[in-house]
Amino acid sequence: LFQWDYELMFSVPSYACQRRTTLENHNAVLTDALSLLAENAELSDQEGRGVAFRRAAAVLKALPGPVTGLTQLRGLPCLGEHSLRVIKDILENGASDEVESTRQSEHFKALKVLTGIFGVGPKTAERWIREGIHSLIQLRESGHTLNRAQQAGLLHYDDLNRPVTRAEADAITEVVVRAVVAVAPGAEVTLTGGFRRGKLTGHDVDFLITHPEEGREEGLMSKVVSWLRSQGFLLYEKTTRNSYLESTEGPARPASNMDRFERCLTIFKLDEDQRPGSEETKLWRAVRVDLVVSPISQFAFALLGWTGSKLFERELRRWAGHEKAMSLSSHALYDNNQSRYHRATSEEEIFAHLGLEFVPPSERNA
Ligand code: ATP
Ligand code: MN
Ligand code: MN
Repeated sequence: LFQWDYELMFSVPSYACQRRTTLENHNAVLTDALSLLAENAELSDQEGRGVAFRRAAAVLKALPGPVTGLTQLRGLPCLGEHSLRVIKDILENGASDEVESTRQSEHFKALKVLTGIFGVGPKTAERWIREGIHSLIQLRESGHTLNRAQQAGLLHYDDLNRPVTRAEADAITEVVVRAVVAVAPGAEVTLTGGFRRGKLTGHDVDFLITHPEEGREEGLMSKVVSWLRSQGFLLYEKTTRNSYLESTEGPARPASNMDRFERCLTIFKLDEDQRPGSEETKLWRAVRVDLVVSPISQFAFALLGWTGSKLFERELRRWAGHEKAMSLSSHALYDNNQSRYHRATSEEEIFAHLGLEFVPPSERNA
């Protein structure tokens, strides 16, 4: 009997970076519910709660089959009292009252609509909601002055809230490669983010650009962006300068998970094939695209840091800090015991330095 019981139970390691999480999710109903609570917490300035729900959802995503009873979850990591209650409600009643009432709440719905505008974060959304603004129409009528990003976000709202397909990501990759080849032959473009993990759709398309000769990446971003702009591919762009070298903090210890590469947040204008018989007259759509430039010496760290998922990244840094006394960022890996940096020219080497089995991008979907 013990043996039988035991075989029904699941077992997973505590850190998401020790696990292989593919896109095949056997517990989507449960993980959708926990992700909704995570999202609500994150939008309500409760980051800690958000992470707890994200970790719980990630554990369920890593299971080899569907959960049918609570006893199967005994001994699993990261399943707090609150998450277990939600799971229990869904297993027993088919739904969780807390999840459903959150989903239906005017406050949550307004936060979703307003933060769905590119350039609007939870703080701004919350301020507007307190003024009674719950919809795009109310926002337009409020007379609030919007910054350039928000104006573009509002203008392209529908496009930017429509998932980007793999085919669209490929079309944009072609454009970015053309731009990079035109301004810096020899420079290399790598698709990162969710599409590198094999996702079929995304909220944006992420690219990492580098040059095999150290230093040759300098000035690359402005040239690439100028080319794209001159060819009419950009509806919006904002470049943030790399401040890595100017920083007074240790390089591997950024204030947050924000890195200091030169990056450009853009909105691309992507030509669309007209569907036969379509009534549509608009021949293009807007797509969010992130461009990041990294020197070749930091490329492996940048690639690992920009491939995600966000939780996988967070767990890698937590593993590094708590289990190995190391600080991992998208720039470097610092060993606090040996007081030195670990070099790496591939993701595999970084996992090895961290004492982790290599997890390929397609299995980082935590
Ligand atoms: P989606 O399909 O929704 O775009 P995604 O996994 O690609 O999913 P992104 O928000 O595009 O999500 O982020 C991609 C990766 O880039 C993540 O691993 C994230 O950690 C990293 N990232 C995003 N923004 C920053 C930032 N400001 N600083 C450092 N890393 C970032
Ligand atoms: Mn992305
Ligand atoms: Mn992105």
